[in-house]
Amino acid sequence: MDFDVAIIGGGFAGFIAGITALKENKKVVLIRKSQGATALSTSLVDVVGYYSPDPFEPYLSPVDGIKNIIKRNPYHPYTILQSDTGLDCFIDSFCNAIDFLKSSLENSGLIYNGGLDKNAFFLNNIGTTKVSCLAPSATFSGEMSNFKEKNVVFIGFKGFPDFNPNFLVKAVNELKSNYNLIKNTEFSGCYINFPTFENRGDIVSVEMAKAIDSDDKVKEELINRIGEISKGNDKSFSVGVPPVLGLDEHFTIYNYLKSYFDIFELVLPPPSVPGYRLQRALEKEFLKNNGEIIQAEVVSFVNDKTNIKYINAEYYEKVIEVRAKNYILATGKFIGGGINSENPIVEKIFKLPIFIEGRCIKDIPPYKLFKDEVFASHPIFSAGVRINKNLQPLDENMNVVYDNLFSAGGIIGGYNYIVEKSGLGVCLITGFLAGKNS
Ligand SMILES: Cc1cc2nc3c(=O)[nH]c(=O)nc-3n(C[C@H](O)[C@H](O)[C@H](O)COP(=O)(O)OP(=O)(O)OC[C@H]3O[C@@H](n4cnc5c(N)ncnc54)[C@H](O)[C@@H]3O)c2cc1C
Repeated sequence: MDFDVAIIGGGFAGFIAGITALKENKKVVLIRKSQGATALSTSLVDVVGYYSPDPFEPYLSPVDGIKNIIKRNPYHPYTILQSDTGLDCFIDSFCNAIDFLKSSLENSGLIYNGGLDKNAFFLNNIGTTKVSCLAPSATFSGEMSNFKEKNVVFIGFKGFPDFNPNFLVKAVNELKSNYNLIKNTEFSGCYINFPTFENRGDIVSVEMAKAIDSDDKVKEELINRIGEISKGNDKSFSVGVPPVLGLDEHFTIYNYLKSYFDIFELVLPPPSVPGYRLQRALEKEFLKNNGEIIQAEVVSFVNDKTNIKYINAEYYEKVIEVRAKNYILATGKFIGGGINSENPIVEKIFKLPIFIEGRCIKDIPPYKLFKDEVFASHPIFSAGVRINKNLQPLDENMNVVYDNLFSAGGIIGGYNYIVEKSGLGVCLITGFLAGKNS
């Protein structure tokens, strides 16, 4: 099998790289063993939310966050990628990547709002705020500045244990002292039965989303039940629900409900319907542009001195040889399976060295990369391959390992998405540039 580009990994970074390369008229194959962190994520694209020395003061502008990172962290992918062309050019590329993402997702029926101009605040199920700058429209309508002077009702579903609306009301009322914008907002909560799932105590989010997708009666009955609650409320009434409003048909369903109520989806932890929607929308767009997907695990490769000649992908007992001019490694970190978490920590396929803050960690046992406090900023989360400005992985002596190997997304080190809130943002810009470079 001969291609221009072979991408290893089918998360956000791999698909962004793949769709970008396809739009450059390249013949692209994507090999993935399963889903990774992307399908578990909230699907909100964080670029920079926080950065030390004030990790708990959010940036109102992601661009200010990028500037601070460049000043302080020479190993961060944002710093490396702008090193040649300068900040302005990098910000332009980021804006292009965001436009590209928005139009690619729109082609698959998913609308995203926001951009690099400002960070917004979104409520999660426990009443803390999530900072991000790009979100699906159903989440974006629940941006906290939209709550000003409104009556906001959180609706939970009986038998769906992942969301308790009354707990959220209590928590969000405590937030009022920090957020002037919601000072005059009335919050309340209630439960309704989810149509056709009455009398169950074990409902999971994906099955509700699928039921709304496939059954018009569920949709209509949901409107009736929410309508009962909205009776007597004035125009400034707003409804927050868990993110279950459809899967593949989400945008049509959301628009339909929106024509009845000012409705938005809250941010919930995994399992994540929005993460799954994002994953599926990217896959749809990749296939629509004639990308080829192979469901298999890349287990080995053959190289000459400077290049990878081919890779071997295994599916049960069958081994498929895939040849391409260029290869993009987008296998994620520990959840995706790109990095081995046992001793010694290495990248799994090409045995590339793994770095934390510029230091190769091959001789450091994994347990030493955690701090004692559970919620501390653990060094292990910024582990990954070290790259040059072309996104090529480097060896311990800072030499390019293979001329035709590039990388994108979580496999890259030098940033800690958990602390700084930059996970899908790094995937977006590195995937976009890797797709163009390769
Ligand atoms: C619970 C959770 C919530 C999050 N929330 C947010 C958020 O709100 N905002 C945000 O910006 N970020 C968030 N993140 C971070 C974000 O999800 C990740 O940074 C991002 O998804 C990483 O994408 P990726 O494409 O690099 O890797 P992944 O999505 O992990 O994909 C890796 C892919 O590589 C494949 N793979 C691995 N090894 C092989 C192999 N040998 N052969 C073939 N295929 C292989 C995997 O099967 C998978 O398809 C969250 C993460 C988690 C876990």
